[in-house]
Amino acid sequence: MSRTINFNAGPATLPLPALTRARDEMLDFAGSGMSVMEHSHRGKEYEAVHDEAIALVRELLGVPSGYEVLLIQGGATSLFAEIPMNLLEKGKSAQYLITGAWGEKALGEAKVVSSLFGASISVQTTAVGEGKTKSYTRVPAPGEGKVDPGAAYLHITSNETIHGVQFNVDASRPFPDTGSVPLIADMSSDFFWRPLDVTKFGLMYAGAQKNLGPSGVVVAVVSKEVLERGRKDIPKIFQFRTHAENKSLYNTPPTFGIYMVRNVLAWLKGQGGLTKVEEMNRKKANRLYGVIDGNPDFFRSPVEKESRSVMNVVFRLPSEELEAQFIADAKKKGMVGLKGHRSVGGIRASIYNAASYEWVDALAVFMEDFARKQ
Ligand SMILES: *Cc1c(COP(=O)(O)O)cnc(C)c1O
Repeated sequence: MSRTINFNAGPATLPLPALTRARDEMLDFAGSGMSVMEHSHRGKEYEAVHDEAIALVRELLGVPSGYEVLLIQGGATSLFAEIPMNLLEKGKSAQYLITGAWGEKALGEAKVVSSLFGASISVQTTAVGEGKTKSYTRVPAPGEGKVDPGAAYLHITSNETIHGVQFNVDASRPFPDTGSVPLIADMSSDFFWRPLDVTKFGLMYAGAQKNLGPSGVVVAVVSKEVLERGRKDIPKIFQFRTHAENKSLYNTPPTFGIYMVRNVLAWLKGQGGLTKVEEMNRKKANRLYGVIDGNPDFFRSPVEKESRSVMNVVFRLPSEELEAQFIADAKKKGMVGLKGHRSVGGIRASIYNAASYEWVDALAVFMEDFARKQ
């Protein structure tokens, strides 16, 4: 069996060992004569998986005791609404730092909630231009923009999946220092790419289907302080507190998705943990950016060097015709998922944790050959 070289942005490629483990356990999970999907979420077989997934999140990220790990449904998009629902109140404001399209989406939901609650939102953006020519090419350097010390929280997108713009890759582009204002980060497309200091955040969250597993699960790490601050007059299912108090078993969780997240996290641990994973991710990204920078007459990265994403490598060719040809020729070589997002065009190679160096190297060689032939 040959695996397709998959550069899809999400849902994205999964580590082969996580898939073969699922295959091997599919019909007979833990000697029970049934699949994990068919178990009660309150039974001991499923509970062991659930607990292991949470324990692996804690271990790999080094989550300190003042934080809870939540496994929730609805995708990152649901959290765009649930975060302001939990944390905004009349007369309060929240800040949104927008570095791309996902931040815009989060902001859109926050504005709806803030007008319902009589709260307000302040916005900082790195966008250049308006409408069709609007582009995002960077994250801010420290000291750019001001954090309002009275804000309920500051929301960022750690990696903008569509624009290929990421925080915390280059030492000169760290996460914003928000002091006592909780920093909230949508990490959907770069959670677990490297170690990070959990204590800098009030809440971080990720839809699993980029770097952690299949769609249907959100992994969130939240401080007890943020949990306690949450409103109590919104429906229980939307209160983060509810999931924390019930170990994410308030209602039926997406059991199979969580099982797959467990498999992916166990694989990450087997890779040697996040320090090793970071080394490999940097090696992969350097290989591709090296080809881009080494062929400046042919390839062009629209992203400022310090903000270039290690997860989504976005680049342009001299014309849209050549870009279409590039995608078609790559497909013939068994490589899929290279078309840029429909809103921005160009090429995007999503090289999450599960994309091997061999795949990335094959793409790099293909890029060099393609440039040489033109
Ligand atoms: C994919 C993505 C989302 C959307 O996740 P859903 O699970 O579809 O809701 C949100 N934020 C970022 C940064 C993403 O990459």
